Amino acid sequence: MSEQYDLIVVGGGLAGTCAAVAAARLGCRVALVQNRPVLGGNSSSEIRVPIGGACDFNPWARETGLLEEFFLEDRFQNTARIWTGHGSSTWDYILYKAVANEKNLDLYLDTPAQKVLMSEINPKFIDSIVCYENGSEKEIILKGRLFIDATGDGVIAYQTGAEFRMGREARSEFEESLAPEKADSYTQGSSLLFHAKDVGFPVPFSPPEWIPQLSSDEDLAFRTHHDVEAGYWWIEIGNPPYHTIADHANIRKELVKMVLAVWDHIKNHGDHQADRLVLDWIGMVPGKRESRRIMGDYIMKEKDVTYGSLFDDRVAYGGWFVDIHTPGGILAKDLPPEPSFPGKSEEIGKRQATVYSIPFRSLYSKDIPNLMMAGRDISVTHVALGTTRLMGTCSTIGQAAGTAAYLCTKYSLQPRELYPEKIHELQQLLLKQDGFIPQLKNGDPKDLAQDAQITASSSAKLQFLQGELATEYDHPRQRMISMTGLEVERALIFPITSGRIDSIDLSIESHLSEPAEIEVTLKKAKHIWDYNGSEGILKKQKVIAPPNGVSWVKVPINLSVDLKSFYIITAHSQTGIF
Ligand SMILES: Cc1cc2nc3c(=O)[nH]c(=O)nc-3n(C[C@H](O)[C@H](O)[C@H](O)COP(=O)(O)OP(=O)(O)OC[C@H]3O[C@@H](n4cnc5c(N)ncnc54)[C@H](O)[C@@H]3O)c2cc1C
Repeated sequence: MSEQYDLIVVGGGLAGTCAAVAAARLGCRVALVQNRPVLGGNSSSEIRVPIGGACDFNPWARETGLLEEFFLEDRFQNTARIWTGHGSSTWDYILYKAVANEKNLDLYLDTPAQKVLMSEINPKFIDSIVCYENGSEKEIILKGRLFIDATGDGVIAYQTGAEFRMGREARSEFEESLAPEKADSYTQGSSLLFHAKDVGFPVPFSPPEWIPQLSSDEDLAFRTHHDVEAGYWWIEIGNPPYHTIADHANIRKELVKMVLAVWDHIKNHGDHQADRLVLDWIGMVPGKRESRRIMGDYIMKEKDVTYGSLFDDRVAYGGWFVDIHTPGGILAKDLPPEPSFPGKSEEIGKRQATVYSIPFRSLYSKDIPNLMMAGRDISVTHVALGTTRLMGTCSTIGQAAGTAAYLCTKYSLQPRELYPEKIHELQQLLLKQDGFIPQLKNGDPKDLAQDAQITASSSAKLQFLQGELATEYDHPRQRMISMTGLEVERALIFPITSGRIDSIDLSIESHLSEPAEIEVTLKKAKHIWDYNGSEGILKKQKVIAPPNGVSWVKVPINLSVDLKSFYIITAHSQTGIF
């Protein structure tokens, strides 16, 4: 069987799904090839990784576009809680339906792409891919004008001979403070998650004999394991000692042992309040974090994500922190699974990313003219991948790549030829499709929203939930944030509507029996995501937090300030204060 398409997307994770839907909606004839029976990649019910991105660490940031559309449909259809809901099979169905709704899109599920055939006329170009449909035992040849490799592992690009990197760059190569002194082959590992539920009566767990013993909490040092509902990301194994692609099967075998060993620890060693808990799901498809990165005309690096480079060809964005796990994962048991975990403030500061943009030049292969990438295999360094790999970010990348494929089809261009002339059109098209691009304005004169005015029929004073109420959140991350204390410094960025700040009132909860001194600083920010307040400190004040309970504390400021600007108030660390 043989078919011909404008665009073939290989890999039906969130990046590939967004790419395929975006291009099909704009009129391209698209094939989406996915080697497993469900869409969603790591977010699917087979792996159940929660979707994150810029929205988790940045107020006012939210992945819009196709991902937001899928999320809204999910909340409409899915009765599971948000935290675990995106990993339920209802989420698989939401993605399946989004794809099935597109008349220009053919979905090949359970169909691994196995081989790439290069063009006989121009051997640098991909001509077609050879796939094998599981179950029917059919070979399917798909011929395309453009290809997007959204396989995570860069399976298609690898077969073409396109340049890729795997492992860690040396610190000096891109001046990356988080890179090792010398380059090596280490990558982040793969994980299996699990799900547990309370059945209401005590249930024993008898472990198999072939699992390692984790009999004391020392064996799981740094690896907090009180909330068991959705498994642990730190049950992770990779390089060293295993190669995340070549040793995939071995990694699964070792991960299954580790999941059961951790569960045995929770059930049978120490009091983990787990008597009534049973395992009701164990992942069997290792979720991968890192393998090949395919090289484009631009390689994103640490400074691009920590300083928020604004590329002229920006088409996508991210904002998760630079999340690089400890080499060896759970096998490196004397080290924390990630250097800032749990809650090491000095390490958190080094890894903070602002909302950053992703350039189009990182989304196509520099070697194969009709090949683009979407997802974690784009052109970034090992360090930058620490944040670009988030699935919310991969979704914005996917939508951008699919939209670019449409423009390539419209103008009969190859991806590289879109830069620079067609980038403005690409950016505006993305905004029109509900995308967001940092600091880029919608310039469509026909868009009535440009002249719209916002009015409010009523207003309410800003109030914060306190005490018990503050802990009643659905999402564990929100719960965590509401209860987090000043053991590290905390800041709030806010806009100004008058030319003066006389004072700022802080709601402070003290768990101390004596009054405590807190240092507070006020800084000016360049924009809403300039958390470091690069315009400098305007005021430093010391205030006293009364003991035992909640009180409002006034911080005198007495400054004339600029209208329409952003300011940051920071309360410096003080234990016992929330
Ligand atoms: C345990 C764990 C925790 C994580 N935590 C988070 C988190 O909290 N939030 C977050 O956003 N991200 C998290 N990540 C990272 C994130 O899941 C990945 O970086 C992300 O899934 C990459 O997206 P992708 O679309 O590029 O790849 P994937 O999600 O891996 O999708 C690629 C798809 O391509 C398919 N494929 C591969 N080869 C072929 C082939 N030859 N033919 C056809 N199809 C193929 C695969 O089956 C897969 O479905 C975590 C990862 C892990 C493993």
